[in-house]
Amino acid sequence: MHINSVQQRKLVVGNWKMHGSLAANTALLNALRSAETGPAEVVVCPPFPYLAQAATLLAGSAIGLGAQNCGHEAGGAYTGEVAAAMLLEFGCRYVIVGHSERRADFGDDDARVARKVLLALEHGLTPILCIGESLAQQQAGETRAVLQRQLQAVLTHLEPARIEQLVIAYEPIWAIGTGLTATADYVADIAGYLHQLIAQAMGAADNRPAVRLLYGGSVNAASADWLRQLPDIAGVLVGGASLKADQFDAICQAFS
Ligand code: PEP
Repeated sequence: MHINSVQQRKLVVGNWKMHGSLAANTALLNALRSAETGPAEVVVCPPFPYLAQAATLLAGSAIGLGAQNCGHEAGGAYTGEVAAAMLLEFGCRYVIVGHSERRADFGDDDARVARKVLLALEHGLTPILCIGESLAQQQAGETRAVLQRQLQAVLTHLEPARIEQLVIAYEPIWAIGTGLTATADYVADIAGYLHQLIAQAMGAADNRPAVRLLYGGSVNAASADWLRQLPDIAGVLVGGASLKADQFDAICQAFS
């Protein structure tokens, strides 16, 4: 019986990346608010400067707020960085950690990603830990080894009760922003493997522990429709389509 995943509330997260403006954010969030999403939990992650604006626009709404990154230290002389505690002050409940764009362009290696996850948890934020293989790694047959390494680098520092608080986003890099989506079989296979690794790290008997596992990579309304049917998948992390109210709303509806 796979009780845990059946009971999990679905989660749809919008990663706005470096997009938005005061005017565009107002239009997008007002449209999402008036569409009023269903039972799925919905979270948007705007760029840092817009967190306060988004918190105001979302006041009283069921849509939650997250950030796209946090600093690897609690505070101090780190020019340009934003601490987990600061995110909490602006109403964030989630923070994306280890997105492949940060791993590739901003020096977020496994050790740094682990630091960020720990800091987020210590400050009461839910980390959305991103992991995923590149096209070259996939073609070399290294997908499972890469995912295991990325996951273990974090899980090894956490007690089972802490692991349970994580959200993990499986995002094959070759599917991010490319319009390519992995097939249902591929996602199901990898998701099952990830749940096995998580269960092992937790010493859990259940092969599908109560950790929410998301899929990300060019998700749209059509792919959301089959992704929601995969028992190991508890939701999605959405980039491009999260900037368009009608598309994001359609994805949220698919998971409701
Ligand atoms: C992402 O940014 O995490 C992402 C999955 O982007 P996209 O949906 O545009 O592929």
